[in-house]
Amino acid sequence: MTTTLAHAALTAADRCDRCGAQAYVRVTLESGGELLFCAHHGREHADALRQVATDIQDETERLEETPAVAPADER
Ligand SMILES: [Zn+2]
Repeated sequence: MTTTLAHAALTAADRCDRCGAQAYVRVTLESGGELLFCAHHGREHADALRQVATDIQDETERLEETPAVAPADER
């Protein structure tokens, strides 16, 4: 296994192409394009994406560590 491109981590500015929620999955296509998906849509399209993707950056595990929308100072 080779480590190819080290993508920057996804940020709150990265949005799902389908619904506009925060993106946790970045898909690099054979054409060179990129698609961004939230955890929900990343899972929903996972099978289809694997057919056309050269790389899938899945950060959905971060959802379990920190809330998707972190309330700043809610105390
Ligand atoms: Zn979505």
